[in-house]
Amino acid sequence: NINTKEDVLKAIESNNVKFIRLQFTDIQGVVKDVEIPVTQIEKALSVGISFDGSSIEGFVRINESDMVLKPDASSFAILPWNQKKGVVARMICDIHLPDGTPFEGDPRYALKKVIKEAEEMGFSLNVGPELEFFLFEKQDGKATTIPHDFGRYFEFAPADLAEDIRRDIVLTLMDLGFDIEASHHEVAFGQHEIDFKYGDALTTADNVTTFKYVTRTIAKLNGLHATFMPKPIFGENGSGMHVNLSLSKNGENIFYDADGDMQISDEARYFIGGLLKHVKAITAISNPLVNSYKRLVPGYEAPVYIAWSGANRSSLIRIPAARGKGTRVELRSPDPSCNPYITFAAVLAAGLDGIRNKIDPGDNREENIFELTDKGLKDFGIETLPSTLNDSVKYLAEDELLIEALGTHVINSVLSLAKAEWDSYRIQVHPWEIERYLNTV
Ligand code: ADP
Ligand code: MG
Ligand code: MG
Ligand code: MG
Ligand code: MG
Repeated sequence: NINTKEDVLKAIESNNVKFIRLQFTDIQGVVKDVEIPVTQIEKALSVGISFDGSSIEGFVRINESDMVLKPDASSFAILPWNQKKGVVARMICDIHLPDGTPFEGDPRYALKKVIKEAEEMGFSLNVGPELEFFLFEKQDGKATTIPHDFGRYFEFAPADLAEDIRRDIVLTLMDLGFDIEASHHEVAFGQHEIDFKYGDALTTADNVTTFKYVTRTIAKLNGLHATFMPKPIFGENGSGMHVNLSLSKNGENIFYDADGDMQISDEARYFIGGLLKHVKAITAISNPLVNSYKRLVPGYEAPVYIAWSGANRSSLIRIPAARGKGTRVELRSPDPSCNPYITFAAVLAAGLDGIRNKIDPGDNREENIFELTDKGLKDFGIETLPSTLNDSVKYLAEDELLIEALGTHVINSVLSLAKAEWDSYRIQVHPWEIERYLNTV
């Protein structure tokens, strides 16, 4: 286990590491990376490595363009590929200003702030994400949307051609310290899921970013294209990133209550109440692309209606059957295009708001919500998730709690990126419109 500067130096020496990749993510969750030779590691660990933050998406602030990368010792890991020119390790970094204070626009900092808030209430947050992705064929070196295989849910060879590639991804993740629980073919052709064990929120957010680039890298080494785009093919299931959540106090899962209704605690209910209250605003963060909203439609196992339930998979929030240590709340709306740091920060802040203010989540819904009529939805007071990015940002812009918890720098970056994204989309003339109107109008 590596936790201190000394541990890092020892690990570098004993593994004969030659290069370190210093990594952080921009506001969109894209991993940025600067490589240093090991000769610079002393300096990196003591004062940090300077860089120009003004070219990073969501960081821009001209008067604050000088920024410093501070590697987090506990994130040290040897990268299992590309070792021909010497062993390469990576470290995930926090971003500071030259005066040593944390940079407010750093997504990792936003999450750390909310984690600290939880700690002050005596809680630590456990997160277990389920990332789905597609493997597509490449033609002339370019990605296509041709699925690599024609397998369906839980299928195996010969329909599932990706067994070996999935295993390759799993082995690489294990080399990087992941505790893999399962991997399987998903519902759509070419679609897969690999599940890793839940952990504390910060480690898990780091893991999500690592998971994505490992998957992309291994796919590439196998001549394929991996994508976490939420809805690459119309008429097929999209890719989600269900987020499983629980709180623990002194090592005990406090969502479990052997004597409670459904064997869940009041805290679990209030946490759900908080999620339901803020979920429209959270959607701007957990579903940040124009394309994200093409997944959130009825008929493809993705949530649309704002409700919670027991094992019911038509619901936005589900309580999977496991109890005891495994008692958890599953939020099914996020997709893997989101920035995991600010998504977990928003979700945690909303849940804590629920606990603090004892927000009642209302009754759980066990019917298939997709089959309810408009009147049924109205009678039960069931609302819907925002149906476009343009809608969800309006909720985020007005959510005082999330703005306070994540900070105005991060929220303003999310809002202005979303607005630019929406405007760029809005003015396009799509093939659908040509097909629909060219000959009829
Ligand atoms: P599903 O039935 O929704 O497909 P999976 O088995 O694919 O669920 O994934 C469940 C996820 O929940 C895993 O990442 C697992 O580690 C995680 N998980 C299990 N227990 C907890 C817990 N107490 N808190 C948070 N996450 C948990
Ligand atoms: Mg799953
Ligand atoms: Mg599973
Ligand atoms: Mg799945
Ligand atoms: Mg799930």
